[in-house]
Amino acid sequence: MENDKRHISFSPQNAILWYSVIAGVFSACFIAFVLLYIERQERAHIDRVTQSTADGIKTVLEEDIYRRMESLTEFAKLSETSNIMSDNEWDLLSKALYYSKQGYHSIVWVDSSFHVLRRMPIEGSETAIDFDLASQPMALLAKLKYQQQNSKVIAVPLTSINGNRGLGIYVPVLNKTLTSKKVEGFIVNVLLFDPYIKSVLPTYLLAEYKLTLFIDDQKVYSDQTKHPPTSGTWDRQAAFEILGQRWQVNLVPNNEFRPFILFRMFSLLIVLGILLSIFITLAVYTLMSARNKTKLTKDDRKKTEQLLKNLPGMAYQASNRTNRPMIFVSEGCTLLTGYSKKQFEKQNILWGKLIHPDDDERVCRTINQALKTKHLFELEYRIITKNNDVRLVLERGEPVSSIINDEFIIEGFIADITSIKQAEVDLLQSYAFSQAIVNSVVEAVITINNKGLILSFNDAAQKMFGYTFSEVKDKNVKTLIPRSYNEHHDQYLAQYKRTNKTHIIGTGRELVAKRKDGTTFPIHLSVSEIPNHEEKMYVELIRDITQQRVLEDEASSHIEQMAHADRLNALGEMAAGIAHEINQPLTAISLFSQTAKNFCEIGKFERLPELFDKISQQSLRAGSVLERVQMMTRQGDRSKEVLDSNMLIDEVKKLAESEARLRDIKIQLLPCHQKKNVFVDRVQIQQVILNLLRNGMEAMQSIDCKNGAIIKLQIKLQIKIKADNYIKILVIDTGCGIPNSMINELFTPFSTTKKNGTGIGLSISKSIVEEHGGHIHFSKNKPAGAIFYFTLPIHEEGIPNDK
Ligand code: ADP
Repeated sequence: MENDKRHISFSPQNAILWYSVIAGVFSACFIAFVLLYIERQERAHIDRVTQSTADGIKTVLEEDIYRRMESLTEFAKLSETSNIMSDNEWDLLSKALYYSKQGYHSIVWVDSSFHVLRRMPIEGSETAIDFDLASQPMALLAKLKYQQQNSKVIAVPLTSINGNRGLGIYVPVLNKTLTSKKVEGFIVNVLLFDPYIKSVLPTYLLAEYKLTLFIDDQKVYSDQTKHPPTSGTWDRQAAFEILGQRWQVNLVPNNEFRPFILFRMFSLLIVLGILLSIFITLAVYTLMSARNKTKLTKDDRKKTEQLLKNLPGMAYQASNRTNRPMIFVSEGCTLLTGYSKKQFEKQNILWGKLIHPDDDERVCRTINQALKTKHLFELEYRIITKNNDVRLVLERGEPVSSIINDEFIIEGFIADITSIKQAEVDLLQSYAFSQAIVNSVVEAVITINNKGLILSFNDAAQKMFGYTFSEVKDKNVKTLIPRSYNEHHDQYLAQYKRTNKTHIIGTGRELVAKRKDGTTFPIHLSVSEIPNHEEKMYVELIRDITQQRVLEDEASSHIEQMAHADRLNALGEMAAGIAHEINQPLTAISLFSQTAKNFCEIGKFERLPELFDKISQQSLRAGSVLERVQMMTRQGDRSKEVLDSNMLIDEVKKLAESEARLRDIKIQLLPCHQKKNVFVDRVQIQQVILNLLRNGMEAMQSIDCKNGAIIKLQIKLQIKIKADNYIKILVIDTGCGIPNSMINELFTPFSTTKKNGTGIGLSISKSIVEEHGGHIHFSKNKPAGAIFYFTLPIHEEGIPNDK
């Protein structure tokens, strides 16, 4: 930053101030100049107008006077023959002359002594009286002039008795003899300037200018109605000669003419004012934006300084000399090297000296190369800090041309990467370690991304599936699962992504997998999410459970067989028991009958009643045995107890769970929302529910659980107003559904559709349920499967249930 100060001579604010002052002075000068220019132009314009007006006046007057003189000369010639011209004729001629042009005041004929001989007979034409031609010094002068100059016509200015100025045109009347021409008199025509000028000159000229007329420096006409401008700088003159007399026209633009000029000047001033205000607005705008920019620049500089300060490293500008002396370094240098910013910038510490000797040559080479090619460079090397620590740094730099001189300097950033490198090494080690673990485990470990694409595939996976990692890399994990299970796998992941709830994830699930050669095998799959990853990733842990399945299947068929045997055994045992119980009294009856026959044959009739008693006793015993069997079938009240129905199904669920797990089916419990007791034989009712669950699970398994792997066990309340209240226990499956052929024979003993079925499960269940005062039914489940349900009367407190 100090470097900057050296090179900037004044701040932008100062510059703007100076520019504004210069602009102000310049605009003031400019306005003054424009005003002067306008004034001069106006003057020149008036000069031109005045001169041309004066020229015009001269031409008009000259021409008019000459014409009048010509007419008068003609008239004088006629007058020379006055002897023969009657007064009337003279009157007519003079009148004709008078009316031919405007401006005549009077026309008179005077003798050589200026006594009026004839006068144009017009009323009010009192020229002789007005002007007393005989006593006019100029009139005398006219005579003299004529004699001296031999001029034919003389024009002299005259002054009337009333002070009116006029022009006397004297045309001599000659008495011509053979030898001489004697002046007998003059035809004098008087033009009064006032009416004359007004009749001769156009009115607009008289309106715009004040006109003054001089003849031989005598003022003969001046417009008294107008006031000349106060300043005398506007008047213009034009002079000309008529018959040896100097006529001078003075013109001054009148006062009305001035506002017009002022108006023009004001208009110009307004235009200039607008221009100036635009200029000032622009200047202010520039000033404000410059200020804002300066502020922003300041802010930026502060921010940059702050940023550089907080950066974990050192920004620098180094000169392109040996050991790279620093021109500028950021505050981070102290943390990086232990040396202060000052030490670097005063070049007490040279960067090149800090580089580890083993890396020095490589660093120099790279930088020289970058200077040659003017390209960016990136380097990793070691430095030795003030505390003699060795640190690994990463330098990124670029040669740039200096603003101070032509030479190239290097700008860049140096960061301490010692810990990063260490972390990298640690990471690599830990990766190798975990890789070794992953590869040593028996389970297949597969990493997949959000889209199910395989990212890693451990050794066990390669062995298990027969693929190498390169063969499955970036392929969908579905490659490893048979098509019929693909959908399941996709659904698991999709459901997780949607709901963010673990289903398969973290818990595990049994599935079927497919090897490279197309063979399938059962697996246990557990998936877990890899946390803190930008894109979600999952680890799949797969265990080959072929062996386990074989064992389970064996166990399962064993259980099946046992159950089957159990049921047959129970029947057999029951039959044997009944036979044994009845056989005994029958044998006794047979024996007693035989003995009675023998007594009859030998004539011992007195022993017969005793024997008949015994026979009767034995048959009663046989009857009681059958009654007992009947009672046994009914189980009687002996083993019945009051049970919470929810607890009852919960116990059944626990009993059936291991079998369900083997079948890969989940039992879902939907207990009753109210606690309802039933008075039942626990074992028998459990037997019924177990039988229904087993049937349902078998039906589901027969179609590979394609409609789902959940079987529901539910309790509902069935309240009847006028009859007993019941609970309804339902077993809802999603299996193959009841075959049409079985619908009418379901509860008939020994009817079955199964290979190893006995066909007595439902018939026994029916008799047990009915013995408990309930009914068993079935219906279709929607969209697939069957619902088996049975009712049980609710046990109300205090009311013994003996049904
Ligand atoms: P077993 O189960 O030994 O065949 P059962 O009396 O329990 O004897 O069942 C009789 C028959 O009823 C079965 O073979 C089967 O065809 C049919 N069945 C019973 N429960 C279901 C069920 N949930 N879904 C489909 N069919 C069933």
